[in-house]
Amino acid sequence: MLHRAEIIAVGSELLTPHRVDTNSLAITQRLNDIGIDVRAKAIVGDDRGDLRALFVQALGRADLIVLTGGLGPTEDDLTREVVAEVLALPLVEDESITARIRRRFERRGLRMPEINRRQAMVPRGAAVLDNPNGTAPGLVIRREDKTVVLLPGPPREMKPMLDVVLREHLEPRTAGMKVIRRVVRVSGRTESHVEEAAQPVYSRWTAGQLPVSTTILASPGQIELHLSVRSDDSREADSRLDDAVSELVQALAPDVFSVDGRTMEEVVGGLLRDRHLHVALAESCTGGLATSRLTDVAGSSDYVERAVVCYSNRSKVDLLGVLPESIEAYGAVSDKVAIEMARGVRARAAVDVGVAITGIAGPGGGREGKPVGTVFVAAVWKGEPWARRFQFPGSREMIKFQASQAALDMIRRLVSGES
Ligand code: AMP
Ligand code: MG
Repeated sequence: MLHRAEIIAVGSELLTPHRVDTNSLAITQRLNDIGIDVRAKAIVGDDRGDLRALFVQALGRADLIVLTGGLGPTEDDLTREVVAEVLALPLVEDESITARIRRRFERRGLRMPEINRRQAMVPRGAAVLDNPNGTAPGLVIRREDKTVVLLPGPPREMKPMLDVVLREHLEPRTAGMKVIRRVVRVSGRTESHVEEAAQPVYSRWTAGQLPVSTTILASPGQIELHLSVRSDDSREADSRLDDAVSELVQALAPDVFSVDGRTMEEVVGGLLRDRHLHVALAESCTGGLATSRLTDVAGSSDYVERAVVCYSNRSKVDLLGVLPESIEAYGAVSDKVAIEMARGVRARAAVDVGVAITGIAGPGGGREGKPVGTVFVAAVWKGEPWARRFQFPGSREMIKFQASQAALDMIRRLVSGES
């Protein structure tokens, strides 16, 4: 049974600030999906001794070791050799691989350089994985109770091979175990406030036959709760998760905005479309970000009528009819001006919902009573206009994002009647 995996990403470039090891993320996700835990991962440069030491350690702990990178034809590509040496397997040239690589070159009218023969060297007994997008084949080696998988570094070569490894070599050996996941997305609360409300709920789930594991992921403007169940019975796991999600929704409503993977902009778009409503936005400190996010969703022309980026005071007056006296008396960053902006854009666009954002994104421009991060969001639909003041932490970029999120969330709450 495969249970514990480790991943080793090989490549000196991955230890520089210029290249990120993304392969291990893709590999982790796919292994988790079939119930295999990744217990450790490492990045190592193209150094024989370092790679050997890491591989030997991993081999002592894990049932499955996945290595990516270092399968190229050049001297610094060492993964194949080091793995064969540690496992004491002789490397034998596989003529069919050499022929395949040669044909690949010939199709491009090129002669195969002799160094590419290195890529045809296979540790005895290894299964060879065809590489439709490159020359380096992947390898799967089983040695006693250990499984070692070697995949090429370039993600577009690695990924299709990973599919084959899972389907043909790993999945058949996990006893049908699957990990089923749900993501609950929450807005309008901080991480600790979410945790406070959710903790009593999910502490109940760790007991029982099918424990639900939870992780909390905070990012600016939203908190995600990731729930997962490991089971060989996906129907049972699904219904366990359905119950868990509804308990969480009960504890956190109306701040839960998504339980099905949809983003805030998709949820808001869905609500507007279902209710046949149109929206217009007036954006100051967000510079159009909220509208940009809404229009990231295909078909958003069904409900987005227009947006005005009104950065200066003059544009707020000229384009939206905000009263200069209001700006004078309350400041451009105020609930009064936010409401006038929302009313102005709504009237000019002749739509159902008008939304406005005005704030101080920083790092300069903060003042007494209105520090950096002060943002007012207003929404006008039927009934009284609605304005809220927010105080967002973080950099300029983070403040802009949180402001856009608050505006979208305000539309969501208003339109779904969950204010
Ligand atoms: P290699 O298989 O070592 O010849 O890798 C070739 C190229 O693949 C590298 O130059 C990187 O751009 C890319 N690469 C290697 N390892 C990774 C990784 N772990 N994540 C993302 N890209 C990678
Ligand atoms: Mg490399």
